[in-house]
Amino acid sequence: MLPVLSRVHDPHLRPNGLSGNNTKPSPFGFLKAMQGCRKGDTEKGIRDLKLYLARFGYLNYQKNPNVTDLEEDHFDEELEVAIKSYQVFYHLNATGTLDGPTVSQMAMPRCGCPDKVTHKHTDHNSLHTVSHYQFLPGTPKWTRSQLTYGFGPSFPAQFMPAVDRAFGKWATASSGYFTFSRAGSYEGADLKISFERGDHGDGYPFNGSGEVLAHAFPPPDGRFHYDADENWVIGAVQGAFDVETLALHEIGHLLGLGHSQFQDAIMWSTLASGVTKGLSPDDIQGLDTLYGI
Ligand SMILES: [Zn+2]
Ligand SMILES: [Zn+2]
Repeated sequence: MLPVLSRVHDPHLRPNGLSGNNTKPSPFGFLKAMQGCRKGDTEKGIRDLKLYLARFGYLNYQKNPNVTDLEEDHFDEELEVAIKSYQVFYHLNATGTLDGPTVSQMAMPRCGCPDKVTHKHTDHNSLHTVSHYQFLPGTPKWTRSQLTYGFGPSFPAQFMPAVDRAFGKWATASSGYFTFSRAGSYEGADLKISFERGDHGDGYPFNGSGEVLAHAFPPPDGRFHYDADENWVIGAVQGAFDVETLALHEIGHLLGLGHSQFQDAIMWSTLASGVTKGLSPDDIQGLDTLYGI
């Protein structure tokens, strides 16, 4: 089955993913309307902002009983701390307000995996954070280095070679420590790659084009899902996303890498459309350190 290509892509889309005067609803569009929000404000959409930050690891309502109800559209202290933490992670000025650069960064198409897993109040103080790879919580990793992968039944055949290339690049980057080969069956594969859309049963629903592009689960789970509602292509094509670039990123998660704070890293969380990226020294260093290569 081919991915749905019905969305008309505006050639004038700004590189940050916000669509100027375009009236077409954009998935993270609620953010634009809230630009300038700060502590003390009560405004419709603040609840969605809290959900966004919770989803990507900056707010944890379950583990902190002192925070405001998610239902509330109130910009509280907790939200200010979360925004500062987000701004530090993305090398923005840690203003704690929803300023223009923060909105632009948040509206970027991105990986669905969280940037952080525990919400740390002290994050905004660590302004000297070195741009770097990070591991996933609990440092999960594979105990075997010969891994197999398989494509789900609806995975577009024309995109399989791009994923093969991405595995080849990671194998090379590991100096031969890892080998990746196609499994005899999808069911029996260590790494299971599929095209999914909407709510697809793993608790992390996709919601249409332009927001979350893909996600993957850490070792030893091995699932890697592309959002079938995105416009997928091979290479750098205006208004579309490169299958191989996303594969490089998600394979990093499959191997145990988290999001990097180094913008040139493949493990940086966001990706503009029409762009291709490769592995960076930061990514390779992360893998080497994780596996002692
Ligand atoms: Zn990611
Ligand atoms: Zn999924």
